[in-house]
Amino acid sequence: MQGLLVLSLLLGAVLGKDDFVGHQVLRISAANEAQVQKVVELEELEHLQLDFWRGPGQPGSPIDLRVPFPSLQAVKVFLEAHGIKYTIMIDDVQTLLDEEEEQMTAFKTRAASTDTFNYNVYHNLDEIYGFMDMLVAEHPGLVSKLEIGKTYEARPIYVLKFSTGGNNRPAIWIDTGIHSREWVTQASGIWFAKKITQDYGNDPGLTAILDSMDIFLEIVTNPDGFVFTHKKNRLWRKTRSLTAGSSCVGVDPNRNWDAGFGKTGASSNPCTETYHGKFANSESEVKSIVDFVKSHGNFKAYISIHSYSQLLLYPYGYTKDPAADDAELEGLAKSAVTALASLYGTKYKYGSIFKAIYVASGSSIDWAYNQGIKYSFTFELRDTGRYGFLLPASQIVPTAQETWLGLQTIMNYTRTHLY
Ligand SMILES: [Zn+2]
Repeated sequence: MQGLLVLSLLLGAVLGKDDFVGHQVLRISAANEAQVQKVVELEELEHLQLDFWRGPGQPGSPIDLRVPFPSLQAVKVFLEAHGIKYTIMIDDVQTLLDEEEEQMTAFKTRAASTDTFNYNVYHNLDEIYGFMDMLVAEHPGLVSKLEIGKTYEARPIYVLKFSTGGNNRPAIWIDTGIHSREWVTQASGIWFAKKITQDYGNDPGLTAILDSMDIFLEIVTNPDGFVFTHKKNRLWRKTRSLTAGSSCVGVDPNRNWDAGFGKTGASSNPCTETYHGKFANSESEVKSIVDFVKSHGNFKAYISIHSYSQLLLYPYGYTKDPAADDAELEGLAKSAVTALASLYGTKYKYGSIFKAIYVASGSSIDWAYNQGIKYSFTFELRDTGRYGFLLPASQIVPTAQETWLGLQTIMNYTRTHLY
């Protein structure tokens, strides 16, 4: 009996969630290139187990860094020694995680339809896949579910197709959750799916789009990572694939695309958050989309949704050279962020990935753009750092609502500027 008890306690410790007690998120302001380089040096110190929520970029742009409790002293001493300013943005990460979990538990009831589904809380993979099946069952003439592949851990990868007919109509791609810890994105994806079914036939703009185009929406773009964020580590970003010769797990699925793959702006170290993988498309979560988009052949817009920072970005990320359509993309981005801000006043910055944040290679929208999909954008949703990846569930619906206005702007523009 006692042996069993000990065994179950041990198992509990093994199976329990990672805790983040005492972890802080620091906002670092590197004033010049030398200070940015010092912060980059920190990234190399693996024993500190640091997690960049917002990586180093241009001098003056904020760097957000989660620091485990045992490393706090060393990191603060390091920053102070080099005269680098910082503030404590999140005092104790675990406190926010506890609040989030309490809320999820409190609202744990399975909805009988997408009308009674709770859009104001975060959901796990089973609940989201259940939602998708309900939506398809409720709107069989408008929504269908496609399985475009399997994850590394053999989970199905689903895409919702919204179509009113036709044959391989010009299409719009939207994905959420390629980075699994960006929970407000999958939650917004759920809301978008419902919104499309509500607006078709009622909203003239969306109706016009679906009368001539199809929309494809992948809500959980990194299912293995997403399950891991629920069961083990809420702050997991990457896939869950194993790399031969390393004990570190996962590849950054937004550095794994065949666009400037492996250049500056990604890491070759499997233990970092921006590890690009052994080769482009090594991740089945990426390869499945690549194959699907290529075989479809008629995508006209490609929108990949991340959090956080409140940015609307367009190619390129792997080079400072402007995209051929830079001026048009800039104009459209400006219209989209203006529409987005009209609802709650949420301010977004916009620009090419390279100029607006930092060099990033192997990203999905650079790949999409190089495939000839001109209207390729990435959103970074709320907030600007107060909660970061741990955005309170009370902000899900407002975030989705305002983002929808930005999406609508891009979708409408695409419909009236088909090429
Ligand atoms: Zn992301």
